[in-house]
Amino acid sequence: MSLMDLESAIRDIKDFPKEGIIFKDITPVLHSAPLFAEAIGHFADAYSEKRPDYIVAIESRGFIFGSALAYKLGCGIVPVRKKGKLPYKTIEERYDLEYGSAAIEIHADALKKGDKVALIDDLLATGGTSAASIKLVEKLGASIIGINFLVELCFLNGRDKIKGYPVQSLIKVK
Ligand code: AMP
Repeated sequence: MSLMDLESAIRDIKDFPKEGIIFKDITPVLHSAPLFAEAIGHFADAYSEKRPDYIVAIESRGFIFGSALAYKLGCGIVPVRKKGKLPYKTIEERYDLEYGSAAIEIHADALKKGDKVALIDDLLATGGTSAASIKLVEKLGASIIGINFLVELCFLNGRDKIKGYPVQSLIKVK
């Protein structure tokens, strides 16, 4: 299995969830044990020298990759969720969408000063979700040692919003 196999497994779904969007369907990667292992292996390689204390995983497909990576690295996982989904005390961050805004939350006691964090999601698009997640992590005093994506939509320039952080994306869509 290689990165090329991963790339060819990802399906383009036109006009989902609304017209004009080409949705990157990553479920074929999850469906195949060797492809899923290939993806998680690459993510884990990024932390061969410096292991994070926690994986911070972004709802919802980030949870899938984040859980497997946390298990492989032997660290805990912390969910970042859409507002209103986390049961305990939270802190929140708002960010702009194409129309309007959204808010995400993290448990207020999930991270502490000095914790080293790897942030993970399935896909980097405009970077708004990741930038807001970074703010949540840093508000709690933790630091980001890496950010991982399966897919990066390069034409949306999401990297500009997460400048200065080590970013790994396995598949780059030009
Ligand atoms: P953004 O904040 O624009 O970087 O959007 C990233 C989030 O939206 C990730 O959690 C992705 O799962 C999701 N997302 C955005 N665009 C797409 C797309 N074209 N295909 C699949 N997921 C997407």
